[in-house]
Amino acid sequence: MIDTDKADKIITANTSSELPPNASSSAAQYTQDELVRIFHEDPERLKSLADECCRREHGSSVYVRGLIEYSNFCSMDCTYCGIRKSNAGAARYRMTPDEIIAAAVRAFGEGYRTFVLQGGEDPFFTDDVLATIVTNIKKQCRYEPAITLSAGVRSYQSYRRLKEAGADRYLLRFETSDPDLYAKLKNGESLSRRLDALRSIKALGFETGSGFMTGLPGESDETLCSNALLTQKIGCDMVGIGPFIPHPDTPLAGTAKPDLERTLRAVALVRMLLPRAHMPATTAAGSIDNMGREKMLSAGANVVMPNIGAVEYKNKYLLYPGKICLDEEYHECESCLAGRIASIGKKIDYSIGSSLR
Ligand code: SF4
Repeated sequence: MIDTDKADKIITANTSSELPPNASSSAAQYTQDELVRIFHEDPERLKSLADECCRREHGSSVYVRGLIEYSNFCSMDCTYCGIRKSNAGAARYRMTPDEIIAAAVRAFGEGYRTFVLQGGEDPFFTDDVLATIVTNIKKQCRYEPAITLSAGVRSYQSYRRLKEAGADRYLLRFETSDPDLYAKLKNGESLSRRLDALRSIKALGFETGSGFMTGLPGESDETLCSNALLTQKIGCDMVGIGPFIPHPDTPLAGTAKPDLERTLRAVALVRMLLPRAHMPATTAAGSIDNMGREKMLSAGANVVMPNIGAVEYKNKYLLYPGKICLDEEYHECESCLAGRIASIGKKIDYSIGSSLR
């Protein structure tokens, strides 16, 4: 059970102090202080070792997940988020269940074998609605694809219903392991509530994804390293890490300059802690640096998630400004991504890419 009142209770201290010369599937163990030292000591070596570790565990494959951002309605008011409920300037949309199912079925016919259904915490998507969507995608795709849900904090019973409907994986980023910073970002919500949800997800047998932002205002190096350790403590099968990009229509407008290097080092740290986890090269990284995704894929990441939704919706799911690939149909994204991936000596892989754990 994850104790959640304080980050220092969450993280289990351990003793090893060496950057692993040969990191393997047995996860490295570090204390927070050791990780902070490694974070600063030799960044290029850290990223290179993480890349080596990733290639050893996952080969040169970069797995493709078809992302469907199904709704930007949200009942939450996270202070960093462009689709927070208080942002009256956000143009809202909600895909119908039939549209969501059709998008997945169409992409299945074109070779996709994993779908990520992601939305704000939209009350329209009750357990029944989501379960119906999942069941229909599974049925119409001959039960072949893996379905990942990213539908926020829900009850144990809700997660169980979704699991029984056929969902295989669940993503719920904790964003920061600092409970005070978390409460500020999430308008008073507690980190413990989110970690309890992650515990339920894990207990139900979902492949479990979480992750965090880097460069949040008030985030120290210790916080970043605690974040990395928390992904290990949770036992994540998937970890998403992205740079904080302040949105102009939020309370955190103008509070930080996005820092890709910080994100890359965080990815590398997590790769050393969780050699077998799947880690996306996030769109946010590509949004602040044209080569951001390639850099991430060379620092330990092994997944890309092109948005397979309609262009009319893509440009409304704006958690942060400057998001790339909004006007392209996903076929255009595929060929662009394949070229980018080939340029770093890896290959695009449409197979299901299940957890290696
Ligand atoms: S971060 Fe997620 S939960 Fe928070 S406002 Fe944005 S979409 Fe909603």
